[in-house]
Amino acid sequence: MQELSFDQKLEKATKVVCKQGMFPFPINRTTKAIIKTVVDEREDELDLICAFTDRPSQTMDQLRESSGFPEERIEAMTSSLAQKGLIFNPPNSANQVIFRLLPLMNTGILEYTFMKPFVGDRKAEKLAELFETLLEELKDEVQNNYDQYLPLFEASPPAERTVPIRTSEEGTPISIIPIDQKVDMGDEYILPSQSVKEIIQKFDDIAVGHCHCRQRQKILGNSLAANIPTFNCFTFGKSARHTVAQGFAKQVTKEQAFAILEEAQAAGLVHKAYHPGSDETKLEVSLCNCDKHCCELLATWRKGALPLINATYHLAKVDPDLCVGCGICEEKCPTEAIKVCDTLISEVQRDYCFGCGVCAHFCPAGAISLKEGLRKVYIPPPKMR
Ligand code: SF4
Ligand code: SF4
Repeated sequence: MQELSFDQKLEKATKVVCKQGMFPFPINRTTKAIIKTVVDEREDELDLICAFTDRPSQTMDQLRESSGFPEERIEAMTSSLAQKGLIFNPPNSANQVIFRLLPLMNTGILEYTFMKPFVGDRKAEKLAELFETLLEELKDEVQNNYDQYLPLFEASPPAERTVPIRTSEEGTPISIIPIDQKVDMGDEYILPSQSVKEIIQKFDDIAVGHCHCRQRQKILGNSLAANIPTFNCFTFGKSARHTVAQGFAKQVTKEQAFAILEEAQAAGLVHKAYHPGSDETKLEVSLCNCDKHCCELLATWRKGALPLINATYHLAKVDPDLCVGCGICEEKCPTEAIKVCDTLISEVQRDYCFGCGVCAHFCPAGAISLKEGLRKVYIPPPKMR
């Protein structure tokens, strides 16, 4: 069989990576440039990526057969690709390694590249720009075909789960209005952890890296990312072992984790938990601390590229007798779900509120409570054209 040229291999490898993940990214100049940059133009790494064409997860024996490379080469190349955020390879509980090819994002190259400390290298700068172009292209694609994408978005499960802040700035507990009846919940539904402390307590392996969204925005020179703490992107269990092994994150103790979370709360960041395959009955794999302006999911929604789809168990509720109309909640809310209306009292738009508690944390009058009740919040991307 005729040997493929570098460009043909790049095209093929890009196609294999674009097939992974939730969104079908096109094989175009941008995605090819991302793959070419990530593999440092190494042709053998493109060959190994192509070996994942039919099966995204493989054992060493399977990879030997699909790639034609000897075991030592595969060991070396999978290690290199794992450090580049393209392969997930921590041993499972039976000490067996399954090599899984990762997507461009959610969770893959984008997240792992920018979780690492930024050391001023040109490669990270180039990737930061390329991903910015990719997200712009994604917005154009969705806006140009808005009506076709909408049903797909509506049918998608929540990609993330909000875990509310539970205290005010002064440290007093935010008032919780308990649910008075079961709403939208089957009898077998087990409520996942509703406090970040409870999540931390569950794990022995806890790792923290930099928030990849703010880190990438800092590299791009976005001043909005400048004064917000970035060292607060958590991974747990097997994911923590992977991020530590690859140098993406550092192992921390529970006490260090609590201190990092307190700093995140003081900065008004939103806690969002992630479960394998969005299955909330499974243990959390990661926890983000997102800010209103730089969070990739919030920013892509605001720009009109993707919807916000979130599982939450809370909804903000304003006590009109206590609200003084200061507007702080409106300024802090990440989804524009709360507004001071003409009567100078804040009102919550239920469909836009994902119960993060940031408004309640900062409200100087203690006027905001969180009302319990399981909800899926789906906010379509704004239509711009
Ligand atoms: S922060 Fe509190 S007092 Fe100020 S407008 Fe919002 S609800 Fe009212
Ligand atoms: S109104 Fe906004 S800040 Fe308050 S809980 Fe809802 S989403 Fe969070």
